[in-house]
Amino acid sequence: MPAADNLPGFDGIIFDLDGTLVDSRLDFAAIRAHLNCPPDMGVLEFIDTLPSSEQAAAHEVVLEYERAGAERAVWMPGAQQCLARLEQSGIPAAILTRNASQVARLTLDRLQGTIGCLLAREDAPPKPAPDGLLMIAQTWQLAPARLAYVGDFKYDLLAAQNAGMCGIYYDPNHTGLHSHLADVVIHHFDQLSA
Ligand SMILES: [Mg+2]
Repeated sequence: MPAADNLPGFDGIIFDLDGTLVDSRLDFAAIRAHLNCPPDMGVLEFIDTLPSSEQAAAHEVVLEYERAGAERAVWMPGAQQCLARLEQSGIPAAILTRNASQVARLTLDRLQGTIGCLLAREDAPPKPAPDGLLMIAQTWQLAPARLAYVGDFKYDLLAAQNAGMCGIYYDPNHTGLHSHLADVVIHHFDQLSA
């Protein structure tokens, strides 16, 4: 694994939103408890298993928690500066998130984050499917192998693998939980120097 302070140059960088660029303090345990979702299962995947008559209400529960999270969201340390450095360097940046589009936009508006390209859960099949990442590469007309995806969860790193991109694991608390799936591990956005 290359050291994070010796990263190869990338032509563009894509970021996950929640737990990566921002901390919306989403209480996943509370969401799971509310929905009776098992702890080891993705919430959206769990909703897919519910009877179709119950799915809309369950999605509304998730949206409520997400909206509340958007109101509380704060930048992760150095994330806003990292985006500014990329912009100054002319390196395109994008966000691919499993959040609802309205929630992602609300979060960024509140934090005055400007990002050229944002794909949310309405826009592409959920990670770890590579589709969203490949759509962004296509929009940029850049080769996936020259791009990186930065995220804090296993699905982010698997999506990067599936898209043929460099998977950068953002692990601010040094948990090492998903390091085995990553091409690179960073603990702070200062390590992503443009
Ligand atoms: Mg995340």
